[in-house]
Amino acid sequence: MSWDCLIHNALVLTLEPGAAPLGDGYVAVRGGKIAAVGQAAHPAELPPARETLNARGGLILPGLVNTHAHAAMVWFRGLADDLPLQAWLTDVIFPAEAGWLNPDRVYEGTLLAAAEMIRGGTTTVADGYFYETEVRRALAQAGLRAVVAQGVVDFPAPGVPDPRDNLKVAAAFLESGGEAPPDRITSAIFCHSPYTCGEETLKRAKGLTRDRGVPYFIHVAETREEVAQIQRKTGLSPVAYLESLGVLDELTVAVHCVWLSTADEEILARRRVKVSHTPESNLKLAAGVAPIPQLLARGVTVGLGTDGAASNNDLDLFGEMSLAARLHKVWNRDPTLLPAAQVVALATREGARVLGLEERIGTLTPGKEADLIVVELNRPHLTPLYDPYSHLVYAAGAADVQHVMVGGRWLLHHRQLKTLNWAELAPRLKAGSRDLARFCQKLPGRA
Ligand SMILES: [Zn+2]
Repeated sequence: MSWDCLIHNALVLTLEPGAAPLGDGYVAVRGGKIAAVGQAAHPAELPPARETLNARGGLILPGLVNTHAHAAMVWFRGLADDLPLQAWLTDVIFPAEAGWLNPDRVYEGTLLAAAEMIRGGTTTVADGYFYETEVRRALAQAGLRAVVAQGVVDFPAPGVPDPRDNLKVAAAFLESGGEAPPDRITSAIFCHSPYTCGEETLKRAKGLTRDRGVPYFIHVAETREEVAQIQRKTGLSPVAYLESLGVLDELTVAVHCVWLSTADEEILARRRVKVSHTPESNLKLAAGVAPIPQLLARGVTVGLGTDGAASNNDLDLFGEMSLAARLHKVWNRDPTLLPAAQVVALATREGARVLGLEERIGTLTPGKEADLIVVELNRPHLTPLYDPYSHLVYAAGAADVQHVMVGGRWLLHHRQLKTLNWAELAPRLKAGSRDLARFCQKLPGRA
């Protein structure tokens, strides 16, 4: 019995509940799955492997799970910052999406997002945007694991000029599968929000995803204005309104969840709705602080998300971990909240549960997919080392990620991208961004 790959001389965090870090640790991979996890001072004691990687004292942990992104929005990174949310959306983002974006640009933007995510240790991403067949194609090429969700709104959108076709497009997307490997990429639906989708759209989209047992994503209670708007229209909070439509269940991923009443928190817990926490986006857009400690105390499953790079401005889950850990401490004036080990769990095991993938990823457990990362520890800012969870949350960054594997395949090896050709991609992105800048100069109020 031999292994395909053995990674040894590491400190291993399996992220299995209650498991201690394994010094002199190794992870063995066979057939794209984790074959064994253990401790051995000398790899010669272990069965032979086709490929051996000496981690040189680095940290092996499950790949990070981004539970909410709009990957192709990397095109808009740094294009318009420091604006009020509505001006940002209506003066810049919506016109640029309507007039500039096309399938090729979504594809190329998603490749750029994939390169960034792989470099930062993300192995699974949940994306929600338009032209999602292109997103699926790009993520399949990059080798990432993904839940790719077609965006639905009740107004004209990129690729859906007539909103009456929005669910037809989404249903066709769920059916098609495209070139995506079904074991690695799940197709789903992303209803933008309770204020951009009407009742019928929200309910029918839920029907489509429920029939197929796939996630249903929706931005919920992001801002106070949204809560006031839904209250005026329905007499209910956004969460209570969605509950009244019957769209809240264990396959619903509620993104943001900043402005929740205790009754809303109770509904989310009772319906076993999953929550994607997006602290950087919430801070940058001045949306507010989500009651994450309160949701966790109620047993709600919470994962971390970057949101799009227009409102973050990166796709770096190390940044989200650092911010999530610190934010809830200062907001609640309690430094014991969201301790480092819990935050690392949100970015891995709990993120997998948010996406319904907990049987397959999220912990380093034999039989699960070999989705893992190696973080270099032999660096000044990570020395000395007493607690690896502390370093991951409070001291390490995306640049410390040295190797990334998904399903037994290297996506990053000694910091080299293995599935994407950056030298070939970068000039295309530069040309595209110049074109977008020219387009935006012509927008009203931007000249
Ligand atoms: Zn979002």
